[in-house]
Amino acid sequence: AVPIVAIVGRPNVGKSSLFNWLVGRRVSIVDPTAGVTRDRISEIIEGEDYSFELTDTGGIGIVDEHKLEADVSKQIQTAIEEATVIILLTDVRDGVMPLDLDVADRLRNISKPVILVVNKCDTPELMLQASDFHRLGYSPLIPVSVLQRKNKDKLLEAITDQL
Ligand code: GDP
Ligand code: MG
Repeated sequence: AVPIVAIVGRPNVGKSSLFNWLVGRRVSIVDPTAGVTRDRISEIIEGEDYSFELTDTGGIGIVDEHKLEADVSKQIQTAIEEATVIILLTDVRDGVMPLDLDVADRLRNISKPVILVVNKCDTPELMLQASDFHRLGYSPLIPVSVLQRKNKDKLLEAITDQL
């Protein structure tokens, strides 16, 4: 079976954007406002010497402002059950949020590799700021910008290292 790589994280950090970027086309709905409910989306990604199934878990569960925790909780459950590798996605512009810490803690004692990806590092300054996320206690930490198309190769390398 093809290993599954699951993207988890708070609403609006860019899970669907990252998914589409890695897949190379627009599959998952990118929404500037949190709250769009949709099914889980998966695509096979193939390189010369790897292949994995990438999953955007962002649409699992009911998404509304008062049920954020429940939604993220479902993503994590799915990732824990099905994934080989988990991408914990965060947003450098928001900084480390309480829900990021919750998600990080939930993933801490499972025996699956977690890659911490800090998105929206659109500028060199924000790239540097990504190191704040070491607080979450995961490595590797990969700063990326989906918008600026930064560090896709580094991220793919971190993923394929764990397959
Ligand atoms: P999701 O809720 O985690 O799936 O987040 P989305 O992929 O829907 O993205 C939420 C918002 O963040 C959208 O407005 C995206 O265009 C924006 N976004 C995604 N990646 C980046 C990035 O690298 N830089 C910036 N500035 N915005 C981004
Ligand atoms: Mg999404």
